[in-house]
Amino acid sequence: MTDKLYYRDAYIKEFEATVLDSFADGERYVCVIDKTAFFPEEGGQSADTGYIGDARVLDVRENNGIICHYTDKMLTVGCQYSCKIDFDERFEKMQCHTAEHIISGIIKKQYGFENVGFHLGKYEVTMDIGGYLTREQLDEVELIANRAVFDNVSVKTYFPSVEELQTLNYRSKLDLTENVRIVEVEGYDLCACCAPHVAHTGEIGLIKILNFEKHRGGIRINIAAGYRALYDYRQKYSNVLRISALYSEPQPTVADAAETFMFSYEETKAKLKSVCLANARLEARLINNTDGSLVCYYPDMNMDDLREFVNTAKQKVGGIIVALTGRDGDYKYIMTSSRVDLSAIYKKINADLLGRGGGRDNMIQGSFATDLDSISHYFQNVKYC
Ligand SMILES: [Zn+2]
Repeated sequence: MTDKLYYRDAYIKEFEATVLDSFADGERYVCVIDKTAFFPEEGGQSADTGYIGDARVLDVRENNGIICHYTDKMLTVGCQYSCKIDFDERFEKMQCHTAEHIISGIIKKQYGFENVGFHLGKYEVTMDIGGYLTREQLDEVELIANRAVFDNVSVKTYFPSVEELQTLNYRSKLDLTENVRIVEVEGYDLCACCAPHVAHTGEIGLIKILNFEKHRGGIRINIAAGYRALYDYRQKYSNVLRISALYSEPQPTVADAAETFMFSYEETKAKLKSVCLANARLEARLINNTDGSLVCYYPDMNMDDLREFVNTAKQKVGGIIVALTGRDGDYKYIMTSSRVDLSAIYKKINADLLGRGGGRDNMIQGSFATDLDSISHYFQNVKYC
């Protein structure tokens, strides 16, 4: 069994350890040392990283009480090495993990719902709650959680005896009765957990519930705490500053300004669409009657406009009417005809003009990867049989 230093002291950043075993495993190496402060991937929390000597620790897993460090180098069995964990990242996890305990404890106490899932990765913390809570209820939970931080209460860990354990009302995902490590956030939570936590809640800093969504009969919530809450605040603050400058609106009312803008934008977009369709119909009225086919190029029209155009103009054209937008090598087209059955010939047209596309009700749309002259010339001579 590896001596787990992180059980005794979550703040150990550096330590000396002797290598008991080291061997290749695919492209990585497995290293077992006599004692470790590296917390393995466990209970939804990702593993610590760092160094054993100059070997980079990429991942850490526990296997029957033995902690396996996955490194990028082979280490010498029997030798002692200086080991160092990436403590900034670990401390962020300690902040988030302890915040998760507090939130889970409060939800359990206030609403009776259990924490049924937890993921603490490098960038994201999610918690699954076995019942539904509203945003208002979560706001209340968040407020109490931050009160726990300002109270700066102790976070204690201990291994109670089997008898003592039976008297405790603690949260647990596993049905263990022996060697249960209890983590107590005084007055807020009691939970069986093996991970490292901060010693006092004041070290957590801000606890923020970010998003939440319905998930398997309950909710999944995203949280940020401590440094991660600070990074999140920075990013959001910088976004609000930019948006506020764009709308020339003070930060507290910028969302109202954005809503008003979006409303008028949608109105303008609808008006523009109707003007563009009217313009397409106008263009259709301007063309002369012809017995042959007709190719028209409109660089400023979109596919809706082109469709309106060919539909309005098709009775004036004996052959095929083709409307194009785009540029040489990449034209988007719509073609139709009031007399010619396109379903019989559109595949050949596509093949002849490096095109692709299809459609129904004698309305074909797609693209031609050729130039305008070739397209015009082709339809002057196309046969409809
Ligand atoms: Zn924990």
